[in-house]
Amino acid sequence: MTRKIRTRIAPSPTGFLHLGTARTALYSWAYARHFGGEFVLRIEDTDVARSTQDSVDQILASMRWLGLNFDEGPIYQMQRLDRYQTVVNQMIASGNAYRCYSTPQELDAEREAQRARGEKTHYNGRWRPEPGKVLPAVPPSVPFVVRFANPQGGIVTWDDLVKGPISIANREIDDLIIVRADGIPTYNFCVVVDDWDMNISHVFRGDEHVNNTPWQINIFNALGAPLPLFGHIPVILGDDGQKLSKRRGAVSVTAYEDAGYLPEAMLNYLARLGWSHGDEELFSRQQLVSWFDGTHLSKSPAQWDPAKLDWVNTHYLKTLDEAALANLVTTQLHKLGHAAATNANVQPLCALFKDRCTTTVDLALWLSMYFGPVQASAEDMATHVTDAIRPAVKGLAAKLSTTPWNKVAIGAAIKECLAEHSLKMPQLAPAVRVLLCGRAQTPSVDAVLELFPQEVAVERLQAG
Ligand code: GLU
Repeated sequence: MTRKIRTRIAPSPTGFLHLGTARTALYSWAYARHFGGEFVLRIEDTDVARSTQDSVDQILASMRWLGLNFDEGPIYQMQRLDRYQTVVNQMIASGNAYRCYSTPQELDAEREAQRARGEKTHYNGRWRPEPGKVLPAVPPSVPFVVRFANPQGGIVTWDDLVKGPISIANREIDDLIIVRADGIPTYNFCVVVDDWDMNISHVFRGDEHVNNTPWQINIFNALGAPLPLFGHIPVILGDDGQKLSKRRGAVSVTAYEDAGYLPEAMLNYLARLGWSHGDEELFSRQQLVSWFDGTHLSKSPAQWDPAKLDWVNTHYLKTLDEAALANLVTTQLHKLGHAAATNANVQPLCALFKDRCTTTVDLALWLSMYFGPVQASAEDMATHVTDAIRPAVKGLAAKLSTTPWNKVAIGAAIKECLAEHSLKMPQLAPAVRVLLCGRAQTPSVDAVLELFPQEVAVERLQAG
């Protein structure tokens, strides 16, 4: 019988949604959608000291932003403590887990002795029940941990969906702590109970978890639970070849949202980072879902490439529905303090400038000149607004004050002005741009002028 496809993403709420986790979420989501299965969001909050509601909110917001809709959840591990306790008790009763009263000091001393003997450090099995073994007397008032009685022989093997077959001998694996001294169960245990209870068929996660998988497989087997398939996704490296980390720039989805990237672009870029479908670089959400069947995931680490992300974003910026783009840019203009920006007045402006912009923030910075004063650099003023050009600029200002306000009439006024002052367009246009826009390069001057209120344009040129 084939299993219903159920995938999940299980972030720990200790910060923003990391790009690596977002990519894993995206693969898990796309896999479920491709096969008509279900995608679950689970919040792994058993690290109580570091987990915050704020982080949960950020994660949910980023998932929503990327359009990674889930069918169940968020399910919080801290709300499932009773269930974990029940399973722990069953495991103790069946001999698959045991209480360990070794103190941290004893464990340290034991490790020290093992190192001195040149051995690999490991738990010495002091409290592990064995047939015929007499356990030490339980010391009074020593807090205990619960350990999983890992099988002592044999090999754990799985066929990783990304990395292929992986094996590890059980003698390499210690008896894992599944409940800490404070009574909170640990990640490797909860994850198994959850994946079992939530009927997860495929686990995609970062490859920093490869070493945890043998434990988890052994616990699944001890519980008689069906095993999911595992796929471990290699890390994302920064452009310096090191693991992408906060110290090396933005690593959260939120940072890219704030910087004016589009969710469609982010989705496309993240999907392609570590997965391919032929030579396709630009694809829609629907195409991704129809192509993503868990194959063609790269075995080697992906390289974060800001220039490529910019290229992808530029594409989506150009092709995004105009009203939707205006809406996003208006929000950015408000953030810049331009309260007068509205979708209606921003939309025609976007149409003229979007081709030269990478992000909605870039676009809003360009459009700021329509909503507030501009300040050209002293260098641009000195280079372009020279004494030789100034009379022509004043002349143009005078003409524009009476010209009908449309591109054709504005263009005609500029031509007349050039003829009267015996100038060529490349001499006059930069001066106009610097005074009007605060910069020397813009789209064609008549088109830029037309979008200003007439009196604002005239005033800025006169002020030169
Ligand atoms: N909470 C783990 C993490 O954020 C989840 C690992 C898993 O998917 O099993 O890395």
